[in-house]
Order: sequence, then C-alpha cells, then structure tokens
Amino acid sequence: MNCNLCPRRCNIDRNLGKGYCGESNEIKIAKYSLFMFEEPCISGEKGSGAIFFSGCSLKCVFCQNYDISSLDFGKTITPNKLAEIFKELEEMGAENINLVNPTHFVKGIIEALKIYKPNIPVVYNTHGYENIETLNEISKYVDVFLPDLKYIDPMLSSKYSKCGDYFEKTSKVLLAMRKLKEDKFENGMMKQGLIIRHLILPLCTYDSIKILEWIKQNLLQTKVSLMAQYTPYAKASNYPEINRKITKREYDKVVSKYLELNLDGYVQERDSSSTIYIPKWDFVWQFLMLTLLQFKCNIKLILRVRGNNIIMMVNVFSLISKALDVAVTKFDSKDSINSKLYGIYAQFKSCVNDLPVAQLNYLYDQMETSCDRAKCLYSKSGNLDDLKIADVYQKFQKIISAKLESLKEYGKEYEI
Ligand code: SF4
Repeated sequence: MNCNLCPRRCNIDRNLGKGYCGESNEIKIAKYSLFMFEEPCISGEKGSGAIFFSGCSLKCVFCQNYDISSLDFGKTITPNKLAEIFKELEEMGAENINLVNPTHFVKGIIEALKIYKPNIPVVYNTHGYENIETLNEISKYVDVFLPDLKYIDPMLSSKYSKCGDYFEKTSKVLLAMRKLKEDKFENGMMKQGLIIRHLILPLCTYDSIKILEWIKQNLLQTKVSLMAQYTPYAKASNYPEINRKITKREYDKVVSKYLELNLDGYVQERDSSSTIYIPKWDFVWQFLMLTLLQFKCNIKLILRVRGNNIIMMVNVFSLISKALDVAVTKFDSKDSINSKLYGIYAQFKSCVNDLPVAQLNYLYDQMETSCDRAKCLYSKSGNLDDLKIADVYQKFQKIISAKLESLKEYGKEYEI
C-alpha cells in the first residue's frame, strides 16, 4: 500500500522506494538506551528506554539529530527485533519505552507492539506533524504523547522545516491527543497523558509567545515543557539568524510569558544549550565493539572486513579499560597511580596516531558521553571513583582532540 502516513502524503510504495522521510518500510534505528535527558516525569531515576528511529518526515534545518534524521545513519531491524528491544529496555529498568521520532515507522512499531506490549508506558515522542488517521491508529498502542509544537508562523515553518501548514496540522493533532489521553501520574511519573514541548529558537521569541498563548487558550491544564537547549547544528549555519544559541534576553522574555500565563510543566535552564543533549549515534560501532569484546572468536571474521583499524580500536579500548582499572584501584602512593596512568596515556597517544578521522571522531564522542555519565553518577553518589573515571575519559578526549586538530592543520579532517 502506498504511504500517506504523514502530512507529506508522498503516496509512494515504500517497498520499492523512499519518500520524503528517506526511509523504506523496513524499521531503522540509530540507537537504543536508557536516556536521562527527558522531562523528570518521563526519565525518572532510572531513565527512559529511548529508541531513536532513523529518517524523519519533518527534517528541520537546525535538527539536533541531523545525522540520523537526514544522513540515514542506523541499522535495519525487524518488528521481532524491535519487540526484543522493548523487552531488553524493560529488563534494564527503563521507566517507559520512548519511541523517538516514530511517525514514519508507525506500521512496523504497531507490529512490534502486537508481538510484545511492554508492562511500562509507551511514549510517542514526535515532532507533531502528523495525520489524524495515523494518530488514531497508534493511540491504541501508546500511553503518553510527547509532541513538539515548533512554530505558529507559517513563514518560519516553511523556511526551517519546509512545511507552511505545520501549525494548521499540528494544532489539530494536539487537540486530538488531548481528547485521547487524560493525564495520569503515579509517584511523580507520567503513566498516561500529554506533554507539549516547545524549543525556543533565536530571533523567534514572538512565535514562542504566541505558542504559549495558544496552549493557554486551547489546552488548559496541559503540561508544557519549555526548552532552551537550542544549539546551532546541521544546516543552521546557512541561516545566520539562527546560527547562535538563544540570548539571555530571549530566554527571559519567553520564560516571563510562561510564568505570566501560569502554565504548568517544566522550564529548562538557559545553560542547557549544549550538545550534551544530543545522543551519540553509535549503534553500529557499539554493536561491533561489543561483538568484538564479548565474542573474541569472531575477531578474525571482522578483521577481514575492517583490516588494521579494528586491531587499533581493540588496542585503544583495552588501554582505556586498563586506565580505568588503574584510576579506581586504591594505591598507597598517589605517584604510582599517576605514573602508571601517564604510561597508558602515552601508549594511547601513539595508538590513536594511526586511526582514521571517522574512528577518532567516534572515540571522541564516546569519551564525551562516558565522561558526562561518570560526572552525572558522581553528582548523585558522591563516589570519588566516578570522578576519577570522568578525569580519565577527559584526558583521553584531550589526546584525541589534539590529534584531530593536528589533522586539520594538514587538511585531512575529511579523510575517512
Ligand atoms: S511517512 Fe515518509 S513516505 Fe510516508 S508520507 Fe510521510 S514522508 Fe512520505
């Protein structure tokens, strides 16, 4: 059957080709993991079980997930595998199953949810540009709607997301979502309901204010999550007016309106505008490295495919793991820890020398994510070991960054 799942209405057979979303009928995901950066009633203490779907039917020029929404990064999976992922995330302690950008895979998702319906809430986390028919279909399988309301002004939606009818369509969808799911909470966690997200964009505060007023008038008592994490990304550099973070003045203006309207929900701090909220799309490499480390017998097979780079990566990972062991081992003399670590850093430095840019970038992202995670653990537990681990990751990151900088000097930063 031809695809008309979203308002783009491409009317094409996705078994034979791809529509505006850039995806065939096969489900493709870039990552799944416990994710701590959603609203508190979604992430809770253990994290939301987020599954990031590749492709997108909206494709905003500033997309914070550009690599997966537009560059088709990801791995194809079957509905059966998706059902297994639901189970796995549930067993990991996820507070919910969070379907991030699911619209164009609704059919496959429904198939997976028929195979296994999790015992935790299912969150439909969408850009909001939906068809009412699609929404009615998925609403039987999901519990929480987490849509964006990005713009009211058609000039903005047309310029940044190539859809002048964004508000026309999304406003109807939000009203329908409100009717479909009444809010229900247990111990502070949302079990069913609706939260509307709005991201403040540079130079667009007039639109943000109109959005808040519209919500106040039309969706009274709906939680609103005001987001300030905008960071120029993707093609934002082609639009000078949005090629910066929001200013304090812009932030204060929108937050004042939020408070004046007495809206209920969440307001993000302005210093949240960082790439820390952008997940690293490591599905393929994560999978490969886990396969390598857990099933060493497979190494020969994979080596044939990736050659020496894999050997390098294995060395790099083993050095990282050694350094972490040293950092958290209790030595009597502080010097002996430092000298051991120093030796490992030196080996790491010579090891990364031979890695190509793609893998250096991958490692850099890994170090950043791991360092953030360790810092986050430290802030919760106060355990100094977590702080030492964060230091180690940071040091590795600096070494990689120095290598990347030196490659830039020689004009090799695009080498794969
Ligand atoms: S889901 Fe994709 S193919 Fe289907 S109508 Fe939307 S953009 Fe087009």
